[in-house]
Amino acid sequence: MIPVTKPFLPPQGEYEKYLSGIWKRQWLTNMGPLASDLEMKLKSHLGIKHLLYVTNGTIALQMAIKALELQGEIITTPFSFVATSSSIVWEGCKPVFVDIDKYSLNIDPNKIEAAITEKTCAILGTHVYGNPCDMDTIEKIAKKHDLKVIYDGAHAFGVTINGKSIFDYGDLSTCSLHATKLYHSIEGGLIMTKDPILLKKLAFIRNFGFNGPEAFAELGINGKNSEFHAAMGLANLGHIEAIHEQRKILTERYDKMLRNLNASKPVWHRNASLNYAYYPIIFENSEQMLKSLAKLQGNGIFARRYFYPSLATTLPYVETKAMEITDDIASRILCLPLYFDLTLEEVDLISRLILRVQNN
Ligand SMILES: *Cc1c(COP(=O)(O)O)cnc(C)c1O
Repeated sequence: MIPVTKPFLPPQGEYEKYLSGIWKRQWLTNMGPLASDLEMKLKSHLGIKHLLYVTNGTIALQMAIKALELQGEIITTPFSFVATSSSIVWEGCKPVFVDIDKYSLNIDPNKIEAAITEKTCAILGTHVYGNPCDMDTIEKIAKKHDLKVIYDGAHAFGVTINGKSIFDYGDLSTCSLHATKLYHSIEGGLIMTKDPILLKKLAFIRNFGFNGPEAFAELGINGKNSEFHAAMGLANLGHIEAIHEQRKILTERYDKMLRNLNASKPVWHRNASLNYAYYPIIFENSEQMLKSLAKLQGNGIFARRYFYPSLATTLPYVETKAMEITDDIASRILCLPLYFDLTLEEVDLISRLILRVQNN
């Protein structure tokens, strides 16, 4: 069986070394030394000033919306994981969907202004597959209309634009360190902001709003993460270059094997680095995609339809809305297996099966 993704695991001994420290200190959670060390190392790895390690990528989004005190309508993308929309609704706001750009597959900034009303308070874009949104245009619009900007960077770990971290943009960025993501701590998430005041507020929010043992600064929640999770994050960080390199090799092999396939790939931001988080291909039509999906499945290979269906047509708690580009792309895109342990032979096999469907 070949799944679409498989979590990276460091050599067991490396994780166990961290465990013996935990047993010695008997400090299990509440921003212990491993969680603090992880924050420090991630800041230096990503080249950013501020960062908070939290429970998961979903609570990171919810905390971001809460910290910015957003109310009303948030303009967002229908082409993302459900958490991007559900966090908006969970925080009492209304997602307003704007169609995506057919090349980048990210929210189309040219369609944002038409969706702005007097209730609009923010724009929440996702860097889909790690491919950066058109942040210059988004932030120009936000400035003009006095809106906040949040980026869901769950896929974007390690991406840089002209050498600068993608997490340095917007009012806030979030990331997911879930086991299925490029870099993970089993469960985990990150919130990044350049604003030290906002950071302080988020730190209160992460810990029930506590300001000392008997005082409260904010309405808070439990957004902390444990020493066990931080230990996995630290162990995996030591392998991030190898993970990146291996995914690059596999991606280039797919590119070479599939060069004659009648399909396209999302067009990457021209000044951004690649992180090889996913291998999406956009088939000519949904029939070709479905045939390929079935062919792979028949051979024990599980590609996934990220993201199908569109969030604007499926969620029982938001108004459904047809979106021309999103619905079209969602109907014919497929993410092929891509993970550290995948072999070149497996990439060849997957590619040959897809080509066989086309050439039948
Ligand atoms: C995975 C993901 C999330 C949620 O992250 P969790 O850590 O699983 O809570 C949010 N947005 C996007 C785009 C994701 O892919």
